[in-house]
Amino acid sequence: LPEYAFIGRSNVGKSSLINMLTSRKSLAKTSGRPGKTQLINHFLINNNWHLVDLPGYGYARVSKSSKKVFQKFITQYFGSREQLVTAFVLVDIRHTPQPIDLEFMQWLGENGIPFSIIFTKADKLRPQAIEKHVDDYKNILLETWVEVPNYFITSSSKDIGKDDVLGYIDGLNENMNLEAN
Ligand code: GDP
Repeated sequence: LPEYAFIGRSNVGKSSLINMLTSRKSLAKTSGRPGKTQLINHFLINNNWHLVDLPGYGYARVSKSSKKVFQKFITQYFGSREQLVTAFVLVDIRHTPQPIDLEFMQWLGENGIPFSIIFTKADKLRPQAIEKHVDDYKNILLETWVEVPNYFITSSSKDIGKDDVLGYIDGLNENMNLEAN
């Protein structure tokens, strides 16, 4: 089955987003405490695709050696995923573009792994500020990329962006079925 991976810095709102997408509040555990999602979790959605919950990166209090372990882990995951269609990189809409996220996107690009960006916690900003933050992000990305990747604006607490993300995934799955037939 096709696989879609969700990844981002600790505390970015990944568990909440996964809960929103799967509409099952108890599925992925959320917490105010960063760094809680440690292992890779797979969720079967609609019996036709897998949502893969990857560990959060960039937790400030993590030692250098465990950062290495994390890198190896992530590299291994992405190196051996034939079913992976797209990775969703989550970024907090309130933050200015962070080097760790940009580096990670760069790494995905260099390794030929398609990705989209999911902006989280959009309820925390006014529409105008959202637009500005997204534009800032686009401008930084355009310094290294010829195109801006697909992106989604979401809020798990206000239930925003769910249909956009799920519709996008369904569209990709349908295209693959058409190609396979
Ligand atoms: P994870 O570590 O990336 O899995 O992040 P969590 O889903 O556990 O969320 C981290 C914190 O951000 C928690 O306190 C959540 O309640 C909060 N949070 C997550 N998503 C949203 C959102 O869309 N809006 C707001 N206002 N807070 C959110």
